[in-house]
Amino acid sequence: DVVVVGSVNADLIVRVDRRPAPGETVFGGDLAVHPGGKGANQAVAAARLGARVALLGRVGSDANGEFLRRALSGDGVDLGHLLETPGPSGVALITVGPDGDNSIIVSPAANGRLSEDDVAAAAGLLDRARIVSLQLETPLATVLAAARAAARVVFNLSPPAPVPGELLARCDPLVVNEHEAEFLLGERGAPDRQARALLALGPRSVVVTLGADGAVVAEPGAVTAVPSPRVAPVDTTGAGDAFTGALTWRLSRGDDLVTATEFAVRVGAASVRKPGAQGSYPYLEELKVL
Ligand code: ADP
Repeated sequence: DVVVVGSVNADLIVRVDRRPAPGETVFGGDLAVHPGGKGANQAVAAARLGARVALLGRVGSDANGEFLRRALSGDGVDLGHLLETPGPSGVALITVGPDGDNSIIVSPAANGRLSEDDVAAAAGLLDRARIVSLQLETPLATVLAAARAAARVVFNLSPPAPVPGELLARCDPLVVNEHEAEFLLGERGAPDRQARALLALGPRSVVVTLGADGAVVAEPGAVTAVPSPRVAPVDTTGAGDAFTGALTWRLSRGDDLVTATEFAVRVGAASVRKPGAQGSYPYLEELKVL
């Protein structure tokens, strides 16, 4: 139903009381290693809900590559197009400070090698998919090639970076959080105004996610606010990826954008009730309580 083209990372997480200054060494807590990367997160979010999902991406030939493959296949993601690059897999080095604030260094490694040729080689897969989900942790040229090959594109402008108008014009929807919206527009503003202004940049539709406040959907002629269920947040890491994975799956099933967003905010809300990214993503049964 769904194809995700994107990144696969090992998240290496250490808690610290404070971050080291240049030249300094500090002690941290025990290392936690979790599967991550925006592409993999979205694929797992959709797969846990029951989607058939394939991930086009690259991992390295190292132990992390093995670990990441195992995690994805354990969640039922189709790995027929997960390619291997000699050398290291993508890694996110994450320190978590006393307030729960993250500092992150991403080493794209194998993700940086996902190429336009890889997209061309997966033409059959992209042809069969009704919908392809894209983000920006792989090279922009690759993302653009995938967007050109796809029947319908869900694009999450994350991490935020300048993109060509052609890519925006293919988005249906463009998905951004408030920071990414501000990046594209160059100014803050009320969410409905931001969503309308983003639509004027050329995408066919827009979804702006608003954390605890849910999301706002902009389509030609209509702006719709979609509130999120109220939950006690434990860890919001990966909420946007859970949201986008869920949204993409429901769109592939034929939902209209507002209906799909009403479903996706429940998945996003469920994901913040547990720690971590993929580990917090709900199965369909768990959603019934929200
Ligand atoms: P990102 O993770 O990209 O910053 P958001 O913070 O906007 O994105 O979160 C994405 C979605 O996750 C929201 O639309 C909402 O459904 C859900 N969500 C995030 N934070 C909360 C929260 N504190 N309470 C309820 N839902 C939340």
